[in-house]
Amino acid sequence: MKLKLLLTSDSHGFIRPTTYQNRKITGDFGITKLATAFSQEEAKDDYDYLLKINNGDFIQGSALATYLNKKNTLSAIQRFNDVFNTIGFDATIVGNHEFNYGFDYLKQFINQDSQVLNANILNSETKQSAFGKPYQIYEQAGVKIGLLGLTTAYIPNWEQPQKIAGLQFESAYDMAKKWVPLLKQEADIVVVCYHGGFERDLQTGKPTEALTGENEGYQILTKIPGIDVLLTGHQHRQIAEVINGVAIIQPGYRAQFYGKVEVDFEKTQTGVKINDKKVELVPTQPFAESKAIVDLIKPLHQETEDFLDQKLGQVAGDFTISNPLQARIEGSHYIDLINQIQLTETKADLSATAILNDQAKGLPQFVTMRDILSNYPFPNTLAVIELTGQQLRNVLEHAATFFDLDDQNEIKINPAFCKPKPQLYNYDMFYPLDYTFDITQPYGKRVAKLNYQQQEVKPSDKFKVALSQYRAVGGGNYPHYGADAISYEVSTDMAELIAQYIKDNSPIKLPKHFDYKLKKA
Ligand SMILES: [Zn+2]
Repeated sequence: MKLKLLLTSDSHGFIRPTTYQNRKITGDFGITKLATAFSQEEAKDDYDYLLKINNGDFIQGSALATYLNKKNTLSAIQRFNDVFNTIGFDATIVGNHEFNYGFDYLKQFINQDSQVLNANILNSETKQSAFGKPYQIYEQAGVKIGLLGLTTAYIPNWEQPQKIAGLQFESAYDMAKKWVPLLKQEADIVVVCYHGGFERDLQTGKPTEALTGENEGYQILTKIPGIDVLLTGHQHRQIAEVINGVAIIQPGYRAQFYGKVEVDFEKTQTGVKINDKKVELVPTQPFAESKAIVDLIKPLHQETEDFLDQKLGQVAGDFTISNPLQARIEGSHYIDLINQIQLTETKADLSATAILNDQAKGLPQFVTMRDILSNYPFPNTLAVIELTGQQLRNVLEHAATFFDLDDQNEIKINPAFCKPKPQLYNYDMFYPLDYTFDITQPYGKRVAKLNYQQQEVKPSDKFKVALSQYRAVGGGNYPHYGADAISYEVSTDMAELIAQYIKDNSPIKLPKHFDYKLKKA
């Protein structure tokens, strides 16, 4: 007998195969393609049992998801939900990005139809699952398949407290340790669905990141007996392996692949005997878009395109980014502008922001919403943290670990920011500040020059620093940041602040380029 599990994770609102950089639909990913692939899998007669799982991060990420949040009407949200209901997922796990627009917004996406499994996000008063149920047993022809739902517990380090009020985030590992033995008693096959990834190398067991609890997959895999299948996500990695007899999947992101697990088993007197497990990542590129879902999403897709093409204003001067690495090394007018906007909004002394990914192209002469969201795809608000001169230096030392030198003595990105998950958004550039990093020096000793308004920064100086709230509450693990350290907040979304600033100040002149240097040899 065969159980077939079909998995998506981290689809991030990419329903159709477009990144919305332009109006062409040419991508090799998307839920419409995945839907066709799933229908074809269902039409085959190579299985006895089939379950479809959405492993989280599905309401945020694309321009369509941004527009949906802006529009925020019941009927538009229903259409978005209908996309997933059409595919007919048997279980849904929430991801960390589901909380980006607040718990109240999320509630509109986790209704009865979506069958949410959640064992570790608790109501802080009742200590029960705050939504959904911890697990579900799917009984098909006398065989019981148990699914447990878990989400990365690190969410309070990325979200403003008011967005997650009343929720208590428990370690996924602790909750798996509690629930898996109970599930094992009830079910013949145990599947853990975890919106989280692996903190250690799967072969060597060496840590691949700071062990903060953001990802606990390795611990769950190696320390909790009784798991047959471990479905993961969050890191956007492509993983399909069987390790210690446990089938493991992580299917990338944007539905570029779907995960397929096949468990071959036979029924016995006492339960089942598992003969074989197969895992596979299948590219969705060859599949046509599902016409039903294209039609369903059509109005929202069209409105998104029109929203993106709104003309906001123009810039006078070169705000483009031709090479993101070069822009991180030398600075860029685009980054100065974002920092200038953050300073204007917060009245802080200093501001920091990042080139969020390597798709960022800066701004062309005539700026549209499309340009802004291409550079700034994450929903984010602003926060201010007060730092002493010494703390500012420590923060900069942390930023300086972003770079290393290669064999040719050229500056490169520290691999820790690229693998296993790209974290280019964690390198902040400060403005207005005159500073130099000496990359030839070891970590912690790289800030060579640090002046503010022509004066050397003293340890006792005080600065108000404007940051994204993601950074301010702890994203990127900078020292001295944290929800408790925030003194002031601006709750308008960053993309909207940028759009408004460009409208109000068009044509945008070049801000004073900040003095920022990287030194090598
Ligand atoms: Zn994700």
